[in-house]
Amino acid sequence: MQLDEFGIPAAAHLIGGKWIEARDTLPLTDPSTGLAMTRIGKGGPAEIDAAVAAAHAARAGDWGRMTATERGRVLSRLGRLVETHSEALTRLEAADVGKPLTQARADALALARYMEFYGGAADKVMGETIPYLDGYTVYTLREPHGVTGHIIPWNYPMQIIGRSVGAALAMGNACVLKPAEEACLTALAFAQLALEAGLPPGALNVVTGLGAEAGAALSAHPGVQHISFTGSVATGARIQAAAAQNVVPVTLELGGKSPQVVFADADLDRALPFLVNAGIQNAGQTCSASSRILVERPVYDELRERMAAAYGALKVGPATDDLNVGPLISERQLGIVNDLLELGSDLNVAGRGVLAPGAPSAGNYAIPTLFADVPPDHRLARDEIFGPVQVMIPFDTEVEAIAIANGTDYGLVASVWTADGGRQMRLAKAIRSGQIFINNYGAGGGVELPFGGVGKSGHGREKGFEALYGFSTLKTVAAWHG
Ligand code: ADP
Repeated sequence: MQLDEFGIPAAAHLIGGKWIEARDTLPLTDPSTGLAMTRIGKGGPAEIDAAVAAAHAARAGDWGRMTATERGRVLSRLGRLVETHSEALTRLEAADVGKPLTQARADALALARYMEFYGGAADKVMGETIPYLDGYTVYTLREPHGVTGHIIPWNYPMQIIGRSVGAALAMGNACVLKPAEEACLTALAFAQLALEAGLPPGALNVVTGLGAEAGAALSAHPGVQHISFTGSVATGARIQAAAAQNVVPVTLELGGKSPQVVFADADLDRALPFLVNAGIQNAGQTCSASSRILVERPVYDELRERMAAAYGALKVGPATDDLNVGPLISERQLGIVNDLLELGSDLNVAGRGVLAPGAPSAGNYAIPTLFADVPPDHRLARDEIFGPVQVMIPFDTEVEAIAIANGTDYGLVASVWTADGGRQMRLAKAIRSGQIFINNYGAGGGVELPFGGVGKSGHGREKGFEALYGFSTLKTVAAWHG
């Protein structure tokens, strides 16, 4: 089905520019219906070996010889192809991830934008000359790592491929991509479009399969020179340990418990949609989801009522119905979220969303839930839930707000809502986080904005120009000429 428009089978790996029929396969399920959709390849160490070898061959061949300008042109062409096929990609992602169509479409267009951005940036990464001892000229070169491994999750396949593979290719790396076993159709479609855009064979290889098999083989492979991973903390730690055996650098983006801090002087009309949407977008299965809403006491009751009303209007249903919230990715994920919700049985539920009457009973639907008056040390205020759940926490002082905001193991994104300029600047400095937004949240996706975490949210930066430094290594050349 779904991949017909791209002319490729689902149960195949892309290795060295060729679609290789998978020897073993896995079922792929539609989260909206719980029904089997198709089968995908179940690759393992042998396929990863072949993909890494093909990537090295590409680096030694046409891909390695391309100028930065030519690489940029390929990526720009790829971006235009993604845009042309954005409706097909939208349908694929909606079916595979369970994303409401509008959200899937935003991801497809973000993927196109990543290619446009990194296509334009490819030939603008420069080294520097360094004043040094008499008789020397010293300069630096930014070079690709070589072969990069990309292990990506199921929540935003297109966006995460865009930011990691896009930046890696712009710098001239050859990539081996391991999409998540729960959602990988757009990764396959994207790889086919990359070939059509003129990306040389082997510059991008895709092996689908289980994390413990294909993923583990990729992260431990001695032929890989850099690993980027987005996913859970436990898996990130495993990948970092595996990469450490080969002393390979890793970029880890592991999620968070991102706070939005609302002061009494904030523009609540502007804030309200950001506060709610940052919690329920993609059914809360977002690394940068804002799951904690900290509110200064004088506006706490008003905001709780307004957020509760917004929750009451949230409709949950199949991706194709394009409601506010789709299903969770899997039955397993639904079980995890429901178990965490049980922990909230001692808390006040301020608001809940509504399941659409026609939603298939076998779909993985979690009902959006807003908890109020949550103590900051409650597990629901500290643990990442990865479902459509937010907690509201009142505070009295700026100092207290900062302490609560910094009171988890994570630090990915935060926002501050206040009209007070000094307070904006103080909190932007005081909150431990990779990104801070002032009077907004998410800044429209932010392809251009460096993104990554501190603490258990991970390390390294993706997106923006900064990613190009992460996907390259610096060489210093010191020439003595007398
Ligand atoms: P989740 O538990 O929500 O599926 P993970 O962080 O485990 O999230 O998965 C994200 C990605 O990591 C997926 O592509 C998955 O296949 C991969 N993965 C899972 N376990 C491992 C592992 N041990 N080594 C490498 N990759 C893994």
